Amino acid sequence: MKFSQFTEYLEKLEKTSKRLEMFEILSEMFKKVDKNEVKPIVYFTQEQLLPPFYGLEIGMAESMIKKALMKISKESEKDLQALYKKIGDMGLVAEQTNQNNPSKGLTIGEIYDCLYNTVKISGEGSVEKKTDHIAELLKKCDSKESKYVVRFILGRLRLGIGDPTIMDSMSKAISGDRMALRKDIEKAYNLCSDLGWVGEELFKKGIDGLRSFKAKVGNPIRMAAAERLPSAKEIIGKMGKCAVEKKYDGLRLQCSKDCDKVEIFSRNLERMTPMFPDIVEGIKKQINANTAILEGEAVAYNEETGELFPFQVTITRKRKYDIEEKAKEKPLVLFAFDLLYIDGKDITREAYEDRRKKLVSIIKKGFTIRESERIVTDSPKELDEYFEESIALGSEGIMAKRLDAPYEAGMRNFNWIKLKRSYKGELNDTIDIVPIGYFKGRGMRAKFGIGALLAAVYDEKTDSFKSIAKIGSGLTEDQWVEIRKLLDKNKVEKKPARVDTEIVPDVWTTPKYIFTVMADEITLSPMHNAGKVGEKPGFALRFPRIQGWIRKDKKPEDATTVKEISQMFKMQKRVKAVSFGR
Ligand code: ATP
Repeated sequence: MKFSQFTEYLEKLEKTSKRLEMFEILSEMFKKVDKNEVKPIVYFTQEQLLPPFYGLEIGMAESMIKKALMKISKESEKDLQALYKKIGDMGLVAEQTNQNNPSKGLTIGEIYDCLYNTVKISGEGSVEKKTDHIAELLKKCDSKESKYVVRFILGRLRLGIGDPTIMDSMSKAISGDRMALRKDIEKAYNLCSDLGWVGEELFKKGIDGLRSFKAKVGNPIRMAAAERLPSAKEIIGKMGKCAVEKKYDGLRLQCSKDCDKVEIFSRNLERMTPMFPDIVEGIKKQINANTAILEGEAVAYNEETGELFPFQVTITRKRKYDIEEKAKEKPLVLFAFDLLYIDGKDITREAYEDRRKKLVSIIKKGFTIRESERIVTDSPKELDEYFEESIALGSEGIMAKRLDAPYEAGMRNFNWIKLKRSYKGELNDTIDIVPIGYFKGRGMRAKFGIGALLAAVYDEKTDSFKSIAKIGSGLTEDQWVEIRKLLDKNKVEKKPARVDTEIVPDVWTTPKYIFTVMADEITLSPMHNAGKVGEKPGFALRFPRIQGWIRKDKKPEDATTVKEISQMFKMQKRVKAVSFGR
């Protein structure tokens, strides 16, 4: 597909924020692609050069684009700067500057390769070389192509297309039906975290290619998540005999070992390898397998007392500088709780208990890698006792696990159930929200320019972000200022794509950051759209307050879902009924 043809779709996509329209446009586009260019097209639509786990940042600044534009036009830096100041979009600056340039008809694959090779340039003089490359590329582009190339480089395409919409569109393009292949596409995506690769398999090998899809060492597997239940009794009622593991309060890490090469991924599948040299060493020394993918929770460990440090201490290990010193000062222990791949074989379909046995058998005794502690029981009383004991020893609670369950990548279901301490008058779990805008604030807050966030949760069914609360407490004054600055970077004029709310904040922002929020309870309200169906009111949070800071290990679609909120709402009613009955 010619890049110029692709930009026509981009233009249409830009004009809508409605998911269904986006889906129609993308399905039309996928019908026309050649099977060899599915990968770059998917990456472009995801607004990335490669999936985040490759750790490849485009890392080119506006100043480089300006220099490239100076090379190909007669404009001076001053003129370009003035134009940029006036229209505030470097893509439009490129469009105007390159107004009379004819297109050389590059394909999307050629543009992709050129950008990839440019980003890969490193070492001395790399900034100049990259600028030259971009200038050469823009010389071959007409004005519209230049606009989108520049926006892509700067991460400003802002189409806001979610992965589910891309998956639906590929299913429609191949099978004529939105849902026919959707589950298979998603399953394969969950196993490799690379939608470009999955798309390529689908377009080249058809549905059989997808159905035989296997995890591959080096590619992170999307992490499984847990459901909630309010009591030991309900957990045993649901699962019967199950494993009850300590719920460690640290950082979830997925470690992939391919002989001497170890990679570490975070909850949202970003590459964290350089941050945790002690865990890399631990995996090399203590994991007795050539290839393996295992998961665990990393917690800072106090060697003096044998105690686990609280989360606030563990999180200090997430840093860009002084990594080695900090690793010595606060060594981590990885409590491994699952094994997904071993010696060339994807074992996600095997039962938890079998995977666990294999996991235990490959861990050599040592400091860093240990198996997570657990009991196996069918007694609510024993579960409760273990829960209390775990809390007393610094855990957050317990994770109950179904013994015969496969590892369902990317799924949140009752294969795992979490139970946390419930404080009086509070929900027994926190909620992860994503800001979709903010209010400027009155009184004291007016001086910060922000008084409250408009917060949303994620609706998987419609791939949209639905409002659930206005949140004005929980942050320090400095944090309010900082969050306003961060949100301003993602400020948009109108309601962003995939955002669903009737409330109009003073400033709209595209969904990007996740915050953890505690609230007294979930209530019903006609104000908010989370869970709203026709006349049925939506859900709202009573006395919501932010806890901590941005959850960098989660992406917007990892926010708590409307389905979870609805389950928590029902659970809350059950807990109330029980406590009033006492
Ligand atoms: P989630 O991961 O479910 O989206 P979250 O990040 O807000 O939610 P919690 O709801 O507190 O975290 O619980 C799930 C997390 O608990 C897991 O993602 C994992 O990081 C952590 N965890 C700690 N111990 C275990 C264990 N033994 N088994 C599985 N997960 C564990």
